[in-house]
Amino acid sequence: MTICISSGHGLHVAGARSIIDEVTEARRVTDRMSELIRQTGVNVITFHENEARNARDNVNNIINFHNEQTRDLDVSVHFNAVDGVRDAGIGVETCYRRGNAEMKDIASRASKAISDASGLILRRGDGTMTRSDLGFLSRTNINRAILLEVCFVNSRTDVRLYQEHFEEICKAIAEAITGRSMVKPKVNLTPIMGKPVATSAQMRAYINRINPSVLETIPDLTELFISEGNTEGVRGDIAFAQSCLETGNFMFIGGTAVTLSQNNFSGMGVTSLGVEGNSFPTPQIGIRAQIHHLKAYACTTPNVNPNESPRAHFVQRGVAPYVEWLGAQENPHGRGWAAGAGYGKKILRILNAIIDTEAAVTVITPKLDEAIKNLVYYGVINSPDYWRQHAFDIKFLDRLLIILSGAKFNRTVLTNITTPEEAIDRIAAAGLINSPDYWKERYGNLEWLGQLLINVASRLEW
Ligand SMILES: [Zn+2]
Repeated sequence: MTICISSGHGLHVAGARSIIDEVTEARRVTDRMSELIRQTGVNVITFHENEARNARDNVNNIINFHNEQTRDLDVSVHFNAVDGVRDAGIGVETCYRRGNAEMKDIASRASKAISDASGLILRRGDGTMTRSDLGFLSRTNINRAILLEVCFVNSRTDVRLYQEHFEEICKAIAEAITGRSMVKPKVNLTPIMGKPVATSAQMRAYINRINPSVLETIPDLTELFISEGNTEGVRGDIAFAQSCLETGNFMFIGGTAVTLSQNNFSGMGVTSLGVEGNSFPTPQIGIRAQIHHLKAYACTTPNVNPNESPRAHFVQRGVAPYVEWLGAQENPHGRGWAAGAGYGKKILRILNAIIDTEAAVTVITPKLDEAIKNLVYYGVINSPDYWRQHAFDIKFLDRLLIILSGAKFNRTVLTNITTPEEAIDRIAAAGLINSPDYWKERYGNLEWLGQLLINVASRLEW
């Protein structure tokens, strides 16, 4: 569908002038409603007459322009006036060609929409008027024309309502004459930035079912995705799903030259099949590089850790805030992590499978549940559900919670402890744990574990 819209009168041919000027306002309405109509996906041709020096030439130029277009509807935008400035509202009306019932219907809808959107009254009851004396209605040659008289330029009430509701009026006309809604259909896109939905335990259960050997080689693998992601505000579960796709579930088969020992879990630098790509000194740095690279695509916020992605400078920052846009073919800017079709969808399919995975080991025993409740009682934690959900995110964490909950506590802070390292040393000195290094390496893998350790250590009775 194509609509041809012109403003009434011309640059050198005045229309009605009173509190406001008809030509100026008709052009504003024409331009804005054209923009809005385009947003509905309907084609619009817009015209303002700028040449004529008299009314006859002006009308002829406008009609000729319309008649030269291939279009389905002609619209002319005017404002009306009667003599003298007055306070009372006069209202909106839309004119149509005598005898054209379909145009009467569109005219009626347009006036009603303007009235509903602004409070302008419907002139003559239904806001429509048939005219046989207007060239625009009788000489445009598709016999499908309406002429809007948005309001009266000499009515203070009309002008106030028009000015207060300009945007709503333009939107209302756009919707009424296209029959389409201005509200864009809601598309569900998946932001890359945010908190993970899948837990580390679910990710571990997922990959264990497909390729258990990877967790024997890199026991912290899934925790690193979550912790590195949380540090940068990137969803670590999305990065992990991407890695499952890029590495063939960390099996590195299917013709890739990348190996597990390169710690490159995202195909970084593999610009064509058989290329070895980038290598990283540790799994943690490899995952951090991937997280940094995803963040470069997803937003313009600076990194927390120094950048590890050797290819970040190739990325136009913030060009793909959604997983769906990581593939260049789906990206509105034509940019993205991968060139192949449906890249984001493939990642999401894996992510959804991970989210649906029962984390087999997350059985909350009565003993663990009791421990979590105890820790709440002593003020060490305040969100038992969080700890029930994450008690298995780090190996032995469930046991740690049980051990800590059995310690002798005070409900108020006894010792001022500020760092998790200090807290771990104190908990070890109290004889509760015997592997402080294990927890110093891992507390950062779970968002609130460091704080829990500080809370425990500062309340321990000594
Ligand atoms: Zn006019």
